[in-house]
Amino acid sequence: MVSDKVKTKMSQSSWIRAMFEEGEKLRKQYGSDKVFDFSLGNPFSEPPKAIKDTLKNFINSNEPGLHKYMNNAGHPDVREKIAKHIYKNTGIDLTEKHIIMTCGAAGALNVVFKTILNPGDEVIIFSPYFPEYLAYIDNHGGKAIISPCRPDTFEPNIEDLETKITPATKAILLNSPNNPTGAVYSENILNNMAELVHKKEREYSTNILIISDEPYNQLVYSNKPVPSILKIFPNSAVINSFSKSLSLPGERIGYIAVNPSIADAELLINGMVYANRILGFVNAPSLFQKVIAKCLDEKADINIYKERRDYLYHHLIRLGFSCVLPQGAFYLFPKALIDDDVELVRRALKYNLLLVPGRGFGCPGYIRISYSVSMDTIRNSIPAFEALAAEFS
Ligand code: PLP
Repeated sequence: MVSDKVKTKMSQSSWIRAMFEEGEKLRKQYGSDKVFDFSLGNPFSEPPKAIKDTLKNFINSNEPGLHKYMNNAGHPDVREKIAKHIYKNTGIDLTEKHIIMTCGAAGALNVVFKTILNPGDEVIIFSPYFPEYLAYIDNHGGKAIISPCRPDTFEPNIEDLETKITPATKAILLNSPNNPTGAVYSENILNNMAELVHKKEREYSTNILIISDEPYNQLVYSNKPVPSILKIFPNSAVINSFSKSLSLPGERIGYIAVNPSIADAELLINGMVYANRILGFVNAPSLFQKVIAKCLDEKADINIYKERRDYLYHHLIRLGFSCVLPQGAFYLFPKALIDDDVELVRRALKYNLLLVPGRGFGCPGYIRISYSVSMDTIRNSIPAFEALAAEFS
């Protein structure tokens, strides 16, 4: 029954899932407090109290139409609030018509690719990358072109990017703060990229859409504001979700904000609304659209993640790992102590330590550690990291 393509893709199944399943086995065998699972990207915190209170209020309300179909773009009042929120933070004059509510960032990415890609169109992504990008681009007939980041900062390498942009480039996908590296792209790099993209658009007479996937945009450790993609790139669309910032990944709520300065913005938006419908999402979950609209000023407690980042980073460096200090999100991406990241991950299993090999993110020789876990897990895992490091010292 299953198609050849799905069969093949399933057999190359995700490393993150594979490690999680390995963890399930170990938890059954040793008990969950003896297993140090750094494999999954689930937010550690619970949603803020305001979310739960607002949800209760809506459930008890008699708001008419709350559970009905709506415009495929989402509730107009919710979209208006999001547009105003973006205006407040960036000064970009968006209106409700530039916002499309989606089933999380994953739904949004599929909507954008469905809308813009002709067969064989190229989408440039930067490695290491969130592995699902490959599937999302392939879902809609596109071709992923990989541009490796600079290893010293994990920011895009503009010289390499220049060699990857061709007349077939339809989009460039950014992800900052980044999964898996935690890098936050500087304004300087983004400005250089914008200059390059303009030059290439003129050279090839093309339009390149900059898609910025930003589910971690609230999880940043410095006080410096994250540069606004809508300000830097006129041809851009920002994808955001409340999965990580408000710890709501199971509720599937996010949005696309389309830059009003795109020449055919209206056609693009109409295409996205249509794609949202025909991909079968129809519309984003109604109740959670309403809830998040009332909680747009709620903030994730970044100190929870900062405490974990600092503690684990300090110990990894002490043990001889080399690692770029992440500026956002909740992942560390150190070099594996040996060239073979899969072998290191296998050896770590001996100590009930679950890590994900960098090659799952298109970057062999590294490992990803998701520190969105309890401080107890982190503290108790240090002897396991020590034993692992001792094997290679
Ligand atoms: N993009 C990145 C970089 C992610 O890490 C994730 C989830 O881990 C997603 C998109 C999907 O987010 P959502 O749950 O909002 O669909």
